Amino acid sequence: MYTRSANNIVERFPHRWSSCGAAVIESVPFYHVSPGSRCLVIGTASCNFRCRYCSNAFVAKEDPFVYVKKMYHLEPEDIIRAARRLECHSIVFNVNEPAVSIPSLVELGAAAKAEGIPMGCLSNGYMTGESVEILASIFSFFNISLKGLSSEFNRRYIGIASSEPIVRNIERLARGWHVEVTTPLIEGANDGEIDVMADILSDIDREIPWHVFRLLPEDEMKGERYPDISDIDAALTSARQKLRYIYFHNFVGSAWVNTQCPRCHSVSIERVSLGCGGDKLKRVVGIGDRCPACGSPIRMLNLVSNRKENT
Ligand code: SF4
Repeated sequence: MYTRSANNIVERFPHRWSSCGAAVIESVPFYHVSPGSRCLVIGTASCNFRCRYCSNAFVAKEDPFVYVKKMYHLEPEDIIRAARRLECHSIVFNVNEPAVSIPSLVELGAAAKAEGIPMGCLSNGYMTGESVEILASIFSFFNISLKGLSSEFNRRYIGIASSEPIVRNIERLARGWHVEVTTPLIEGANDGEIDVMADILSDIDREIPWHVFRLLPEDEMKGERYPDISDIDAALTSARQKLRYIYFHNFVGSAWVNTQCPRCHSVSIERVSLGCGGDKLKRVVGIGDRCPACGSPIRMLNLVSNRKENT
């Protein structure tokens, strides 16, 4: 949400938030960040994409001048206070795209850092190299959405010309930060790209956790059929040889939400999928970040929160 003022680009509605509430980190989803921890989920409004299937269109595509009346005005210290009161281990930007609210997030990030509260975000990853460096200074963990690769898919479903900046930014962030990737699958649109996407991600880092989402289309695609679970499971067969942690979820009762040891395949972390972003931790079987059977390391970002206690 930016506008031009003199020769500057300025944020139109600083410190306006569409959401601010506690959630478990698996529901975001982050599966390899402090399992079972609580995060304060925040979001603003607007987006730099126009995905035809957007499930948050009421925030992402709404005219900001209209939507801003429904938003909370919260200064960084208000959000920090909420995170402490709700006993959250982190603050996670979700709902829409963080790149549209960078100035507010820079201020919040500085306040959170001073309080020892780590921040993470979901992002579509479509931004300049300069913007990604700013996000990297705010957030320590990312879930980047890699939606599709072909120009046809990106033009038709997202409204962009190329996914090249997204892949470049995943590569950049994975060099120093914790990165998970999510791909919402639309049968007949991007499911034919599963193997190529797995190749690209494994070339960057075989240990990137990949969330393959069974897309439940909304907005302009509401009414289209949901992807077939067994077809997608079959399509993931060879991708599972390329990446160490592949999850397939966003539907009730998914059998593909547990973390298995990449070496001996024993279950190290059990989760339940309630669908629609309602995933939860069931239990951690391993000891620390190690497989309970063979002791191999399991990739995990443990949030070290030095947050001050409520007084
Ligand atoms: S990137 Fe996300 S929030 Fe933005 S339009 Fe697409 S689905 Fe909606």
